[in-house]
Formats: sequence, structure tokens, C-alpha cells
Amino acid sequence: MAKTKVKALVIGAKDSKEKDKLVTLFTLEQGKLFVYFKGVKGEKAKLKEAKELFTFGEFILEEGNFGNIVTEANIIDSFPLLRKDLDKYYEACSILDILNKTTKEANPFIFLQVLKALKAVCYENSPKNYALIKFLLLVFESSGYTLNFDTCSGCKSKLTGKKYLNVEYGEIVCSNCKRLTSIEIGQATLSALKIFKQTPFEKLKTVKIGGGGEMKALNILTENFEWRFGCKFFRI
Ligand SMILES: [Zn+2]
Repeated sequence: MAKTKVKALVIGAKDSKEKDKLVTLFTLEQGKLFVYFKGVKGEKAKLKEAKELFTFGEFILEEGNFGNIVTEANIIDSFPLLRKDLDKYYEACSILDILNKTTKEANPFIFLQVLKALKAVCYENSPKNYALIKFLLLVFESSGYTLNFDTCSGCKSKLTGKKYLNVEYGEIVCSNCKRLTSIEIGQATLSALKIFKQTPFEKLKTVKIGGGGEMKALNILTENFEWRFGCKFFRI
């Protein structure tokens, strides 16, 4: 039987038969893969922990008749604190759901960013939803929808006055180029978005956002997500 080794993050799991699990891995090498964990529901099962959501590690896959079976796993990090704090847990679930819904092929850039996002939520005490917002901005960037806050994407003039998100194209435009469906981006939202864009995950805990800017930023990015990808992501 052919064996493959992949570096991967567990991003989803559901029951399969009585004792098995069908797990979604986001692998560095091959993007999204569905794999089986056999007989892992018992307390003493060898791969019990490896199948859990958020597990990052190396997995040995063996080709079976009905798909890939995980035969060995070496856990690098299981982000245990995510299970001990409900806010952290939900934020991390949102991040994984966004990854699951937007990224099918291998993408080393996003692979690295999702690990940084989980690390920021789990260990670095980045304030609630900050890592989620940062990750959303990076997902847009990686899918070709980078938000440019300096130049109008319509007429290319410098953005000075009011700014709008043209949801049809996922771009920021000036008041001359806005359409009926464009959403105005208020000042607090805009400054928050700029801060999130330029701050790396590791520094998120040090930034100060005023005027409820982070919630407004999250709301406008959520709207943009639905227009871009035609679905909603898990959000509490
Ligand atoms: Zn314009």
C-alpha cells in the first residue's frame, strides 16, 4: 500500500461508522484532504488526540479501498487552550470554517497564516476577534481581492473623502465611483481595517482600536465574504 507523509491541520471531523472518524485535513502539500481515522473513538485508541479539531502535526496516510487512512501521527501542537475558553474556541472555529470554505488547493501562504492566527488566539491573548479579522483580510488578499485603502479602484484617484466598499467587486471606491450596492466605510471602520492590515498576528495584542472599530470592521468583512464566496462562515 502506498504511504504518504503530510504536514496538516485538522479542520473538520465527523463520525463514520461506529468507531471511525472522517476528518478534513488542510495539508501543506496537497491542500484539503478527507481522511479516515479507524477505531479512534475508544479511550485507549492510539490516534485519539490526533483526530481532534485544531491538531497540527505530521500524518502518515495509507491508501485504502475507500480513501486515505491515517496510520500514524506526530502531533506538533494541539492548541489545548482553545478548548478551555469559549471565546477563543469560537474564534478559532470561525477561522477554520473560513479556511475550509475558501481554500481547496495547497496554499503555503495561507497554511502559515492559519497557524499564526491560531497561535495568536490560543497563546498570545490577542483581543477577541482580532486574529479572525486579520485572517479574513489575508484570505481576501490571497484570493485576489486585496483591499486597497489609498487608491480608488474605479478611477484610480487618491482616496481622500468618503470611501465605499463596492461589494460586487470587493474593492474600495470613492464617492464618484460608488454604486447602489456600495456600502459606506465609516472612519472608525477604516482606521481599524488599516491597523489590522499592517499589524502582524504576533503584534495584535498591542494594538488599540477605538470607537467599536473592530466589530464594524468584522461586519463589513463578513458582508464582503458572503459576496465573494457565496456562503456564510461560522460566526457567534
Ligand atoms: Zn473613484
